[in-house]
Amino acid sequence: MPRRGAPGASAGAGALLRLLRDGAPRTRSELAALTGLARSTVTGRIDALLAAGLIAPTGETASTGGRPPATFAFNPAARIVLGADLGAAHARLAVTDLAGSVLAVTSADLDIALGPEAVLDWTVEHGLALLAEVGRPAADLLGVGIGLPGPVEHGTGRAVNPPIMPGWDGFDVPAYVRERIPVPVMVDNDVNIMALGEHFTAWPEYAHLLFVKAATGIGCGIIASGQVYRGAQGAAGDMGHIRVAGADDVPCRCGNTGCLEAVASGAAIAKHLTEQGIRAGGSLDVVELARSGSVPALRLVRQAGRDIGEVLAGAVNFFNPSIIVIGGSLSLAGDHLIAGVREVIYQRSLPLATRHLRIAAARTGETSGAIGAGAMVIEHALDPARLDASTDFKTNG
Ligand SMILES: [Zn+2]
Repeated sequence: MPRRGAPGASAGAGALLRLLRDGAPRTRSELAALTGLARSTVTGRIDALLAAGLIAPTGETASTGGRPPATFAFNPAARIVLGADLGAAHARLAVTDLAGSVLAVTSADLDIALGPEAVLDWTVEHGLALLAEVGRPAADLLGVGIGLPGPVEHGTGRAVNPPIMPGWDGFDVPAYVRERIPVPVMVDNDVNIMALGEHFTAWPEYAHLLFVKAATGIGCGIIASGQVYRGAQGAAGDMGHIRVAGADDVPCRCGNTGCLEAVASGAAIAKHLTEQGIRAGGSLDVVELARSGSVPALRLVRQAGRDIGEVLAGAVNFFNPSIIVIGGSLSLAGDHLIAGVREVIYQRSLPLATRHLRIAAARTGETSGAIGAGAMVIEHALDPARLDASTDFKTNG
């Protein structure tokens, strides 16, 4: 058994599982050919994955003669995860299998400002109720993933100076939840888990993905080489406070002027509409007005798309994503937001960076955050190097 990071570690049981996670059944010979491993080595690793329940025999393939070779495939039902998407005023929970398929969901109006104990108690209570609903014991949980509507130190799972979350600053979220559900607990911000949820369920073939959440605020989750990119301090993707041209006189809540969020967020559009005598309290009112055909609302949403596109055009040149996914409540206003984004990106980004660039609307809908919170746990636990280092696989390599 090679040590983690040692040469050959990439071809351990974890690497075999990574191949099989696409769901396609394969024979031992196919796996040997794909990995370059000896058949006997492949057999040992398949046995370890079978013993862990992570793969299952899928019957026999057609053969020209003799005994048909057995095939094996990923077994997503082996374990389950609980994902929690805790927003400013709303919470959503999902139990999924290891492929991200939703087995049960629940949601409720829940004010994050109630503080960590009240909000996490709700999460634990209703999370356990969901497990009971799908008939699985807590022992089947691979872990719990939680998304919070503010900055999170991902390594420790603590919120860091969250502006709308009194009582949460520095709170040890994983320790509190683990005392009640004794499994690994991971925490990230809401935009990152939404990006992961979209990537995991709708766009797994795109390794470099930008997910824009356009809602009351504007943020971006970055998937680089298939993994969430968080940056040095976890602040990567904070695009809402990048300056856009022609907005120098517009003050932003961050203290600067001309920020994207101050001109193109749902809150900013609602303010513009109200100034024009059209009552709009926030992002959802803007969506409703746009859907009912209000020309001023549609015009402002289109312009918000252009402003977002202006910031993204720079990001496209820097990061060269394969896809940009536009989500968040403002994206429900119809095609006008994404049309504005496309208009500016294709005009302003370098031709090489946009040659194969796809710009698409989010597909996963309102459960993307909860699914992504669970996917964060799955990706972590099934990471090839981590899996090979775990006790189940140490002696079976
Ligand atoms: Zn700002």
